[in-house]
Amino acid sequence: MQHSVSIRDLSLNFGHVKVLEHLNLDIAEGEFIVLLGPSGCGKSTLLNCIAGLLDVSDGQIFINGKNVTWEEPKDRGIGMVFQSYALYPQMTVERNLSFGLRVARLPKDEVERRVKRAAEILQIEPLLKRKPVELSGGQRQRVAIGRALVRDVDVFLFDEPLSNLDAKLRSDLRVEIKRLHQRLKNTMIYVTHDQIEALTLADRIAIMKNGVIQQLADPHTIYNKPVNLYVAGFIGSPT
Ligand code: ADP
Ligand code: MG
Repeated sequence: MQHSVSIRDLSLNFGHVKVLEHLNLDIAEGEFIVLLGPSGCGKSTLLNCIAGLLDVSDGQIFINGKNVTWEEPKDRGIGMVFQSYALYPQMTVERNLSFGLRVARLPKDEVERRVKRAAEILQIEPLLKRKPVELSGGQRQRVAIGRALVRDVDVFLFDEPLSNLDAKLRSDLRVEIKRLHQRLKNTMIYVTHDQIEALTLADRIAIMKNGVIQQLADPHTIYNKPVNLYVAGFIGSPT
């Protein structure tokens, strides 16, 4: 079977600090994978390698069967959403959504179609003429998700997209991301240090410690059959 994303023996060092070590991970098409672990365990580094924002030290990354290890980020068929929204402050929401598509020289009617669809899915149509400064944190994060959505990609990468939001918004957007996945059925790789997010969103959770995946399993198994004390402690299994 061809996987949506395959990571083969991936290592990454910053200088002589080993941040990821011989990591392997196969992700099925349409799967929602959560990378869970404490701050500093290498989650963002792994996501950035998949996105092509960091060069790997060793190993390979395949997306839809194609070796993309040395491909440019824009050629990998991925969309990424960061914790900080990274919107263009001087542009309206509509422009923020369409900017990448215009740069890629998509036809105008196709750009409009995609922006309209993303705005509808994320319920941000009333905000299209506003600028980021006029939006709440939750609205900004919707726009950031929309910017990944318009690219029409197979794989979404999320790096702690809800960490800057308050508890109520966080749970609202969590439900929305779940709904988005059910509707689009694309592959999602979602980084968080929040156990609740992991348990509610994931098809499978990869629990990381010091750049190594400790356990990869569905939430029920992780919670009820943690492979070691670290996993049990981090996920909060009953002891
Ligand atoms: P996480 O996202 O799980 O919090 P990161 O992937 O950001 O962790 O970081 C993993 C480790 O790599 C940390 O020890 C961090 O200090 C280190 N690190 C991250 N980026 C760099 C960098 N550009 N240069 C040197 N060390 C880095
Ligand atoms: Mg991080």
